[in-house]
Amino acid sequence: MATAARPSSDPTQRANPWEQEVDLNTEMLLPSPPSQQCPNSWWYYQTSLGRRIRQMNEFQTMMKSERPTDPRLCPKDQLLRAVFAFFTNMGFRRCHAKYCEEFRQRLRSQAPTCQWSHLHDSILTLVGCWAPAFKRSILHQIVTRAPNNGNPIPLSNPFMGLEIGHFIFPLVQDGPREPQDEEIISEVINILDWLRYLWFPDDSDARSLQVESRAPIIQYYRRRKDARQVNEALKDPRIRDLNICPHWIWNLAIARGGQCDSLSAILDCVSKPDSSIRRLRKKHTACNEQICFVAFEDAGSAVSLHKCHEQECHSYTFDISLLSEKFRDLVRPIPWVQTAWDVSPFFHGQTTVSNGLELIDQHGSYIAISHVWADGTGVGAKEQGHVNSCLVDYWADIAQSLECKGLWWDSICLPIDKASRRKALDVMLLNFEKAKYVIVHDQDLAHLPYPGSKEAAIALVFSTWFTRGWTSAELYSSRKGRRKVKVIFKHPTDTASTAPYLVDLEDMLWDENGIEQIFNFIPTLAHMSASRIIRQLLTDIDDLPGLQGVLQTRSTSWLKDKAIIASLLVLQRSSIDSSLTMPELTRNILRELGDVGIPYSSLVHGQVPMTRSGGWSWCPPSIFDMGTPNIIPDVQQESMERLAISHEGVLSGYFTVFPVLLQDIDKIHPLGHHPAITMQVRMALEDPTDCWILGVGSEGRRTGISSGFLVSGLRDLAVLQFISCVYWVPSPDVLGTRRYCYIGE
Ligand SMILES: [Zn+2]
Ligand SMILES: [Zn+2]
Ligand SMILES: [Zn+2]
Repeated sequence: MATAARPSSDPTQRANPWEQEVDLNTEMLLPSPPSQQCPNSWWYYQTSLGRRIRQMNEFQTMMKSERPTDPRLCPKDQLLRAVFAFFTNMGFRRCHAKYCEEFRQRLRSQAPTCQWSHLHDSILTLVGCWAPAFKRSILHQIVTRAPNNGNPIPLSNPFMGLEIGHFIFPLVQDGPREPQDEEIISEVINILDWLRYLWFPDDSDARSLQVESRAPIIQYYRRRKDARQVNEALKDPRIRDLNICPHWIWNLAIARGGQCDSLSAILDCVSKPDSSIRRLRKKHTACNEQICFVAFEDAGSAVSLHKCHEQECHSYTFDISLLSEKFRDLVRPIPWVQTAWDVSPFFHGQTTVSNGLELIDQHGSYIAISHVWADGTGVGAKEQGHVNSCLVDYWADIAQSLECKGLWWDSICLPIDKASRRKALDVMLLNFEKAKYVIVHDQDLAHLPYPGSKEAAIALVFSTWFTRGWTSAELYSSRKGRRKVKVIFKHPTDTASTAPYLVDLEDMLWDENGIEQIFNFIPTLAHMSASRIIRQLLTDIDDLPGLQGVLQTRSTSWLKDKAIIASLLVLQRSSIDSSLTMPELTRNILRELGDVGIPYSSLVHGQVPMTRSGGWSWCPPSIFDMGTPNIIPDVQQESMERLAISHEGVLSGYFTVFPVLLQDIDKIHPLGHHPAITMQVRMALEDPTDCWILGVGSEGRRTGISSGFLVSGLRDLAVLQFISCVYWVPSPDVLGTRRYCYIGE
C-alpha cells in the first residue's frame, strides 16, 4: 500500500504553525493523481495505529511553538491555524475514488455549511473515505466469517476515542476580538462539532464539561452565538407561529449544563420553511423567557380527551376503592404494589362495559402511560374512576398490540383517599420502572404524522411532554429497558388512520455508540444535538448537577412536586417520604448527593437560607435555587474540586479566603433581592474585620467581578457563619489565602 509522503516527521524541523498564514483560500488536502484508489485508506487501518498516535503527539509538540506577540493573534487566526495544522499534519489527500465520492455526496447535504470550504472538504474526506471501507470490511466479515481476507481492518473509530475538540479548542487563547470574525468562528466550531458528535460518544457530562471549561474562548463564542440565535428565534414569525414557548427555547439554551452546544442548529432546523414540525395547539403568548404560564394552568380542569370520532361516548367506571385497599396497611418505606388494571376484557372490543374489572397479578406485564395532564388525558372534570370509554379502548388496543394485559394510567391507578395517595406517591415512579413498555402520549405529537427520526427528535424536544417535571422523571425511570419507551405519533402517510403510530424512542435518537448507523442515514448536527438533550434524561444521575440537569428547566403545577420528584430520583428507597416538607426533602437530597461532593458553582444562590444559624444555614430551601446561572461574563476556568456536606449540614472544603478591607465594602453586593438578605450583609459589613469572602463560583477575567460567600467568624478559627452569596470587585492588592473551612455549625 502506498504511503503518502508527509511533511518532515521531525516536528522541530517544521515551520512554526502559529506563523503560518492561513485564510479561507488555504488548501488543506494534499494533491493526489486522479485514480480510483483511495489515497487515504492507510489512515484508518488498525495497522497505522502507532503512526496516528505519533501524529497526535507531533501535533501537540508543534503547537507549543511560540506565538507571535506583536501583534497578538486574534482568536479567529488562532483557530484557523490550529485547525489547519491538525488536518495537514494528518496528511490527508484529495480523493478521486468513485466509491468514496458517492458517500461524500450523501454527507454533503447533512454536514453543516462552512464558508471555509477547504475545511468542509477535509472533514468530508475524513469521514467519506473511512465509511465505505469500513462498511466493506463489515460486510466481508459477515459473508466470509473471516477477517477481511488478510487485509488490514479499518477501525470503527479511527481517532480511538481521542476527542478532536480536546486537541484543537484549548489552543485558542484570548486575543484581540473582531466582531466580524464571529460568523466564521461559529461555522468552524459547528462543523468540528458535527465531526465530534459523529465520532466521539458523549459518555459523561462531566468529561465534556471539562473539555468545554478548558476552552473558555470557544465557549465564549458559543454562548454569544446561542444568545443571538435565541433572540432572533424569539422574533422569528415562523417560530412564533409554531407556538413554541420562549421559556422552552431558553431552557434548551441552558440544557446540558449550559454547554450551549448547537441550539442554533436545532432552531435553524425548526424555522426552515420545509420543516415538518407542526404548530402546537396551545398558545404561549403570555409566556416570556423566564416563565411559562401555560405550565401552571390547572390541569385538573382540562376537558377529558376523546379519541372517538363523535367526541362523545359513555364512561367506564373503575372501582378505585380496590387501590386504597392495596395501600391501606402499608407502612414506610412503602413497597411497590401492582396497581395496573387488567384491560384484556376490552381486547377486540369484547366488551363495552366495565363491570368487574380487576387489577393484574403482582408480576403481570403492563404498559404505563406517560402523558400530559393538560391534554385532558388526566383526571379531568369527571368523577373519580369514571373515564371516557374511547380513551380506555385506545390504551387497551396499544396494550394488546404489545402483548400486555395490564394498563397503568395514573388517572385510574392512584388511590384517591389522602393517606393512601401519599403512600402511592412514594412508589409512583416504580410503576414506570417496572412496566414492560412506557407509552408517551402528547396530543401535539399524537397529531403529527411521523416525520422520520431526525425531525421527530426535534419535535419531541419542543413538546409539552418534554418540558414537564413528572414526565421527565417518568422517562428517566424507564431508561433501563431495551426498546421500552414508545412515542405515539400519527401514521406518516395514511392520513385517514386514527390508530396510534408507535415509534421506539431509541429509533428516534442518534446512537452515539453505533457509528454503523451512518450507512443507513447521516445525522445532522441538529439531530445529534437533540438526541444528546433527550439522552440526558436516560443517563444515570450521580451528582447534583446531574439532578439539576434533569429537573431544573422543567415545570410542575405545584412547587413542592419538583422536590418530591428529585427525592424519588436520587434517594434510597428506605429514605423516601414524599410527605416531608420541601426543606426536609432538600436536606435529604443533599445528604445523599453530598457523598460524591458538590461543585462550588452549584452553591451560588440568592435565596434566604433555610435556617438562620448552624447546619444548613448556607443552603436555600430548594435545590432548584442553587447554582444560579452564571451572569458574570467571560469567566476564568472553574475549579473541578468538590465540597463535602455532613449529615448535620456543615459544608466543608478548600476555599480561597479574602479579607474584607474597609475601602472595599461598597463594592460588595448580595446576590439576592430580599430585604432580609440585604440587611444581613449591611449589618455584617459594619465590622469588616470580622468578614471574609470565600471564593465560590467564578471570576471575570477582564472585569475582576467575582462571586463568593460572605462569612464571619474566622477570627476564632472555628466554624464560619454564612451571611450571603455576594458579588464583589476585590482591590488588586487584596490577596487570598487557601485554607480548609467549615461553614455552618
Ligand atoms: Zn477515499
Ligand atoms: Zn409557555
Ligand atoms: Zn369518546
